[in-house]
Amino acid sequence: MVPEVMNGDGEGERLARGVGGIVGLRSYLEGKWVDGTGPEIPLRDPTSGEVVATVRAAGADLARALAFARESGGPRLRGMPFAGRAAILEGLAAAVHGARDELIDVSRRSGGTTRSDAKFDIDGASATLQAYAVLGRSLGERTFLLDGDAEGVLRSKRFVAQHVLVPRRGVAVHINAFNFPAWGMAEKAAVAWLAGMPVLSKPATSTSPLAVRIAELWVDTGLLPEGAFSLLVGPAGDLLDHLGPQDNVAFTGGSETARQVRGNPSIVAHNVRVNVEADSLNVSILGPDVSPGSDTFQMFVNDAVRDLTQKAGQKCTAVRRIFVPTAVADDAVDALVDRLSRVRVGDPAARETDVGPVANEAQRASVEQGLAALERAAVRVWRADAPERGSFVPPSLYRTDAGRDAAVVHEREVFGPVATVVPYSGAGDEVVSLAARGGGGLVASVYSDDPAWAGPVVLGLAPWHGRIHWGSQKVHDQSPGPGTVLATLVHGGPGRAGGGEELGGLRGLMFYMQRTAVQADRGLLDRVLGATS
Ligand code: NAP
Repeated sequence: MVPEVMNGDGEGERLARGVGGIVGLRSYLEGKWVDGTGPEIPLRDPTSGEVVATVRAAGADLARALAFARESGGPRLRGMPFAGRAAILEGLAAAVHGARDELIDVSRRSGGTTRSDAKFDIDGASATLQAYAVLGRSLGERTFLLDGDAEGVLRSKRFVAQHVLVPRRGVAVHINAFNFPAWGMAEKAAVAWLAGMPVLSKPATSTSPLAVRIAELWVDTGLLPEGAFSLLVGPAGDLLDHLGPQDNVAFTGGSETARQVRGNPSIVAHNVRVNVEADSLNVSILGPDVSPGSDTFQMFVNDAVRDLTQKAGQKCTAVRRIFVPTAVADDAVDALVDRLSRVRVGDPAARETDVGPVANEAQRASVEQGLAALERAAVRVWRADAPERGSFVPPSLYRTDAGRDAAVVHEREVFGPVATVVPYSGAGDEVVSLAARGGGGLVASVYSDDPAWAGPVVLGLAPWHGRIHWGSQKVHDQSPGPGTVLATLVHGGPGRAGGGEELGGLRGLMFYMQRTAVQADRGLLDRVLGATS
């Protein structure tokens, strides 16, 4: 994933000192911005290939950085009521929003995003911080939460038990994927901070300039208590080896990296809480009741095209498999191709561009390998023209009539602007089983106006997905589509998708809090916790 390494005294050395607007990215550890050590990693604009920033491994004592966060940031955050933590989130949301245009520019230069794709990431960051600020304000002056009501223990009315939720005493370590450097960092941090835990965020190296700029803005607000926030740029180094029983890891990225994180000996030895958000072969399902040309059909086409093209298909929630009844398969392919043919691929700085490059050369190579595998299992029915220079991948649509047997289609996430149409008979149980062939996903979309067909399909898909998007005639023009993750709804999915769960309003805080049942005399408990019933 990470591009080539430069020699310490070559071009990179000059660039790191700020020549030509290129920045040497720094970590923020123990309340200070620190330069890395070792060879420089140049980060390039994926459109032009120019170096825009350089990164070095932090070279810092990460055990000490974690201890500083635990001992300094933790008590300060825990000492604040939810409303106080909410005020911090509100200020951080405003800082991101206030620098929106600058951040859009950083996103374009370091990630190749179009203006619209950059806004999706950056506005997602400020909106999630703001949503958790609103939630925090509603929780008021408390510093911990009660879970449910007090219940009598056995038959006693006097000896009762109350479940309480208190912030954990460690550090929330957040490891993020390259595709959402702003939103990914902010959504995890918002929840942990509101719960009362300090955060150490490690952005993916290739798109870290945007995360670093946001971190600078956050630090500059002066709102974050000392130790509440740390940022580690470059490789994770031995970070995970220093985690203990009160620490948490929230990881977003590929399944293979997730396995390494989960298998880290310190994590295993201390049962460190780990949440994983990983790959997903998200599905879009057209119901047999939907006629080509209807509003519901148009919604299906719009959502699929948006997902295939937005962020050049580099969204964990993007539609990868499109299941359509055999009877309308040709119509569905024609309608998708018709819409896709109007998509313009090119320089993300140009207003008319819909699809920019993928984030870097390594990513381009990985998508091209995936496309070569798809070519062996499916027929390409459309491909856009794309510039030859830069990390561009031509958006493409495939079709296979092999159903369950098209193994690559169901098992390989090609993380770029590509999806595959797979016809099915129209039977609900068949399409649920086809969807489950992906091994667990983040989101499934169903398009139908027939509750008798869609009901069992939605409930049949539910065990395999964290979210289901049911499109129909009456809401055809009211939905942001399946690819948009909302702070109030859970995000995550079983199996291949990582088995994790994030966000979901208050639900997201549970990961960062310890649920403890306290059994005691009702009167004494009331004095400590407030009214217990
Ligand atoms: P990746 O290569 O797995 O990297 C993810 C993160 O893990 C990066 O910050 C990476 O740092 C770090 N990392 C790599 N090796 C590590 C190790 N041994 N210990 C600790 N951290 C390590 O994934 P990616 O290419 O950035 O992201 C693309 C993948 O993420 C796709 O598969 C996509 O589906 C998935 N994704 C999932 C979600 C979701 O919510 N489910 C959201 C977005 C993306 P470096 O960059 O420094 O290597």
